[in-house]
Amino acid sequence: IAAAGTVASLFHRAQVALHDAEQMLGDLDAVAADGDHGRGMCRGIDAAVLAADAAVRAGGDAPSVLRRAADAWADKAGGTSGALWGVGLLALADALPADAPVTIEHLAAGITAARDQIQEVGGARLGDKTLVDALHPAAEALAAAAAAGSSPADAWRATVVAAHEGARATENIAARRGRARVLGDKSLGVPDPGATSLALLLKEAGAEAG
Ligand code: ADP
Ligand code: MG
Ligand code: MG
Repeated sequence: IAAAGTVASLFHRAQVALHDAEQMLGDLDAVAADGDHGRGMCRGIDAAVLAADAAVRAGGDAPSVLRRAADAWADKAGGTSGALWGVGLLALADALPADAPVTIEHLAAGITAARDQIQEVGGARLGDKTLVDALHPAAEALAAAAAAGSSPADAWRATVVAAHEGARATENIAARRGRARVLGDKSLGVPDPGATSLALLLKEAGAEAG
């Protein structure tokens, strides 16, 4: 699937989607936390796009373009989600080949590693009402599809559905992690902003990669 240029175009597509969703993500975050999730994700993706484009111009391969983008995202986004997106994208980059096409197996290994690293660094468990609640089912769905030999399109479709269902189900959880834990019960009935943006970005990634 992805050469360096594809990685950069994925970031461009994600940038448009995040700017479109900025207000919505901020509103979700404002229900029980500080309302900055949309702004933080936009700062992160804007920095990632610049870094990815520069790395492509410098002749970088797919994993190195992704690493540059991850570093820039973590550096500029601010907030918990920015740091965790940086961690996750670095783990994904480590799973990509530098000199061969990216397969569903690479992506499955990368997204599983991203989930593991994010849980290790952030300490969130499944059901804590965080982005892990979208990322974990997505990683499981992609690994299952890869093991079953699904086509890339089918595998990614299953992954996106799993992420969306996971994000949606966070409505029924009161936050116990991150800032929202303080007003956790206020977050009942509202999905987690970080899980929502993660599901959105997986969908955009599939649409770009085809
Ligand atoms: P901040 O909380 O620092 O203002 P954001 O508003 O950008 O950062 O991100 C909030 C999102 O980060 C939450 O909705 C949740 O999905 C995610 N999050 C917060 N803490 C953790 C954690 N420990 N592990 C995983 N995700 C977390
Ligand atoms: Mg916030
Ligand atoms: Mg904040």
